[in-house]
Amino acid sequence: MSEVQTDLDAIVVGAGFGGLYMLHRLHRLGLKARIVEKAGGVGGTWYWNSYPGARCDIESLQYSYKFDEALQQEWVWSERYATGVEILRYLNHVCDRFNLRRDIQFNACVVSAVYDEAGSFWTVTLESGQTLTARYLISASGVLSSANMPNIAGRDSFAGAVLHTGNWPRDGYDFAGKRVAVIGTGSSGIQVMPEIAKQAAQVTVFQRTAAYTIPARNAPLDPAVQAAIKADYRGYRERWGRMPLAAEFEHRNVSALTDPPESARAEMEARWAKGGVSFGAAFNDLMMDSEANKVAAEFVREKIRATVKDPATAEALSPKQLFGCKRVCLDSDYYATYNQPHVSLVNLAGGGIDRIVPEGIVVAGKTYACDVIVFATGFDAMTGSLLRMGIRGKGGQSLADKWAAGARTYLGVQTQGFPNLFMVTGPQSPSVFTNMVPAIEQDVDFIADCLGYLKVKGLHSIEAQAEAEDAWVKHVGAVAESTLYTSCNSWYLGANIPGKPRVFLAHIGFPNYVDKCTQVAAMGYEGFALL
Ligand code: NAP
Repeated sequence: MSEVQTDLDAIVVGAGFGGLYMLHRLHRLGLKARIVEKAGGVGGTWYWNSYPGARCDIESLQYSYKFDEALQQEWVWSERYATGVEILRYLNHVCDRFNLRRDIQFNACVVSAVYDEAGSFWTVTLESGQTLTARYLISASGVLSSANMPNIAGRDSFAGAVLHTGNWPRDGYDFAGKRVAVIGTGSSGIQVMPEIAKQAAQVTVFQRTAAYTIPARNAPLDPAVQAAIKADYRGYRERWGRMPLAAEFEHRNVSALTDPPESARAEMEARWAKGGVSFGAAFNDLMMDSEANKVAAEFVREKIRATVKDPATAEALSPKQLFGCKRVCLDSDYYATYNQPHVSLVNLAGGGIDRIVPEGIVVAGKTYACDVIVFATGFDAMTGSLLRMGIRGKGGQSLADKWAAGARTYLGVQTQGFPNLFMVTGPQSPSVFTNMVPAIEQDVDFIADCLGYLKVKGLHSIEAQAEAEDAWVKHVGAVAESTLYTSCNSWYLGANIPGKPRVFLAHIGFPNYVDKCTQVAAMGYEGFALL
């Protein structure tokens, strides 16, 4: 064992779902650990994305921790899909219930993290200038936490208020009587726009790519349904964990190409009426075959035409890319909101915004005057928050240099050249291709078990090996290439950020990933070098 004395055994970055559970596991291992969190409170993505309408698109009973039976029994969810507010309440409850707050340092933004090769430890520097040392550095900084503020000409000249859904004001914002521009029509724009329209005098949506969105059909959660699941919560969690996306989406093993049209339509109608992302699981080949994909895509376009009264707006809102290639959204009255007289759509149709001027937004030479601009323009996903931390590994190599041609990891948990650095839901783990909470618990358990193993064996360093990493990166890419997910410019590929390398950033398939991790651990952490 190295002689170096560090301030802590482990520093965890981020107090969202990942960081909180990580801290709990570290406590249970008897390790001295601290979370450093940029925000003033817990919640991670749910802290920052507190815009009106923020709501999870996985059902509450599934989007929650399974690690503690008493916790999952005692917490009562109020709606089918929890609001951001309810999720924040839940995470604060978890924090207090497991006595985590004592080891969380808030308002603590990491500006650099440097590995000391001789002593096998990390020195983390915060914005305040404070430094902390620890044997292990564990990033739980989230996959959708680095807001993307596009560099539109004249952006800073705007005279009114500028908001971003991913960095919403803590005290909210009063839209009453305001003329509001919303830029972006991904999940955030689609959720926030109908809520803004309830208050504002005028709403203009600037759409670059029309998204597919399915009605959420949110409703109060039936106590009988909740009780039935809680009667066998462990069993349900286990079954959900063996599903491709770690959640129950009622996968139907029927091809859209061979299902008779009446049967296909009846299935899609039933799923549309029920609401939720299980619509995308109506057939087994929507993301494998572009002809099959058209069946679902055309059904959604029909629904748009049937809902939106103005035919030109309906046509503009009808997505042209394959269904599911960009993440499918869930909404509450998104399309119907366009029928309101004070709501309109500006279709950028690939042309983009010319510029922003003090009085509003200019498109094709026309100025759309507004008082507020809401950027719902997404995130530098999967890698953004990691690269912002100034991480330097062996030989002083920066993570940004290592990933200059795209993120490279082994299991999404480590990257070669950066010993003792772990990532919870890192690039090339299943993360955004699953229900995030079980994906987080999987990674946290893997990391905690690994740290327990090192402790028992008297080891103090672990590093992913280059060959294992190469093989994993190839495997993740090959799985993605065998699907239609690489057929459009999505944030899964980093394609929403100018200059970001086009690399598929998630492992598709949760159960295979869990099996692989279990096997790696059983083989004494095969593919990692342990010292
Ligand atoms: P997003 O899906 O990346 O959408 C960003 C939107 O902004 C897109 O419509 C994009 O157009 C547009 N945009 C970006 N830059 C632009 C520019 N310069 N000019 C005009 N338009 C521009 O981001 P998001 O909506 O925040 O969602 C990201 C992810 O977060 C979701 O896919 C989901 O995984 C998660 N999320 C989940 C929920 C939920 O659970 N319900 C809610 C919110 C977010 P292009 O498509 O053309 O790039």
